[in-house]
Amino acid sequence: MSYIIGVDIGGTKISVVIARKSGSILEKYVLSTQVKKNAERSINDILSTIKMLLKKWKAEKQLEAIGVGVPGAIDPVEGVISQSPNLPGWAGIPIGKLLQRTFHVPIFLDNDANVACLGEKFFGSGKGLKDFIYITVSTGVGGGIVANGRLLHGARGYAGEIGHMVVHPNGRKCNCGKCGCIEAHASGTAIAKIAQERLRTLSAAQRKRSKLWKVAKEINRGLNAYDVEQAARAGDAMARAIYKEMGTDLGLGLSSMIQMFNPQAIIFGGGVMKAYPLFRSAMRKTLKQNVWTVPLRNCSFMRAKLGVRVADLGTIALVKENTRL
Ligand SMILES: [Zn+2]
Repeated sequence: MSYIIGVDIGGTKISVVIARKSGSILEKYVLSTQVKKNAERSINDILSTIKMLLKKWKAEKQLEAIGVGVPGAIDPVEGVISQSPNLPGWAGIPIGKLLQRTFHVPIFLDNDANVACLGEKFFGSGKGLKDFIYITVSTGVGGGIVANGRLLHGARGYAGEIGHMVVHPNGRKCNCGKCGCIEAHASGTAIAKIAQERLRTLSAAQRKRSKLWKVAKEINRGLNAYDVEQAARAGDAMARAIYKEMGTDLGLGLSSMIQMFNPQAIIFGGGVMKAYPLFRSAMRKTLKQNVWTVPLRNCSFMRAKLGVRVADLGTIALVKENTRL
């Protein structure tokens, strides 16, 4: 019986699981992330948690491999985190080598969107598909591309950064430094920002009629995408328009992806997908305008299956993808 260890490093917490290759998770531990300075302390915590789990399950001699998901770009050649806005103190740390030195098994690292894509490939909606695109829309927009049965990485691990495809030349400023990225126009963060900006432009008379204005006044914090979603569902014209534009922008990005990769399916994940009915028809209209008939007709649109389990199962899937277990 062999075991796999999965480590999901997030901006605020780290999850360590011990699992079977079938995807059954035997035990899970959650640690807090030392974001800024103390990456080393976090790594020591990870090492000792893994040791403890292996001992508890008497798995020291049957450990097959370790899969690690990270919220940032990974250099697959060097096994280091090359760029991570959420974990500034972790850039350049050879986390792969550190784990390898301690456990002497193959270590596989990838960014969290690719890891989630693999989770869906092996355990979720992507099961049995050879060509699909995974896209997650939440605070940011991320994704992964599976082509001919394999996850694409590109030369230095940057393939599948769907959120940073430009859909508006000279558009809204993105966190990555560019302008007009999908993430800057169609993420949960973007929806909230756009709503806030537009509320400021309303006249006194318009404010009286606006449900979104009422929501914004009642809450004692800034608007989030969920507030905009609720206002749109209640019929607020401005909120509905924002979701419609978001659907058009997402549709533009996906049009290029479908035209380029001819996938069997687009698999949608992330919290903003709960608002799917609000942007679905705008997205579909854009796709119809911009994609040839045959590739569009042969592409299914489906929801991701794994929900909150995607990160843990993804780290197990990352090992499966790389070892053919
Ligand atoms: Zn960007």
